[in-house]
Amino acid sequence: MIINIKDSKYNCKFCNNSLESRFSKCFNVYCQGQKFNIDNLITYRLNPKLGIGRIIKKLEIPASRSLDAEDTYFITKFKVRFENNIVKILHPLDLIHYIYEINERILTKEGVGTINSNDFLIKEGSISYEVLFPDGKTSQTYESEIIAKYETTVKRIIASKRIDPPENFLIKSRALC
Ligand SMILES: [Zn+2]
Repeated sequence: MIINIKDSKYNCKFCNNSLESRFSKCFNVYCQGQKFNIDNLITYRLNPKLGIGRIIKKLEIPASRSLDAEDTYFITKFKVRFENNIVKILHPLDLIHYIYEINERILTKEGVGTINSNDFLIKEGSISYEVLFPDGKTSQTYESEIIAKYETTVKRIIASKRIDPPENFLIKSRALC
């Protein structure tokens, strides 16, 4: 995916708190966006270049300081799978919900659809969007049903820099003459 770090002024989609960018963490303690669950799509605060990751497991790690046989204190961490199959175990403090915006296109189990509303629903930590499909039907699509952000082939090629810069192209064409 392409991340535009220069995205300026952004409001938290959960509590409307003013944030630096789409990839900034909201630290409002009352913010709904502090809660995470399996299937949430997230970005990693300390390395946004990893792209969009999906929470695949919730881990309760014993962190008791005492030597008692029974663990009484646990830290919750999340196992996250990023693009290119990179898997990391991350603390919720370092996670930021990735929220799709209106008109963004996504690849879902039902095909390619377009986010149809600025509002999304949260139910027990699961986020869902109203998505418009090419047949004109809209449906409430959960994050678990979203396969990827849909990017056109051209965007993908530019992102991976497989297009030769114009100078190289000219040199190559001359060499062919
Ligand atoms: Zn917030």
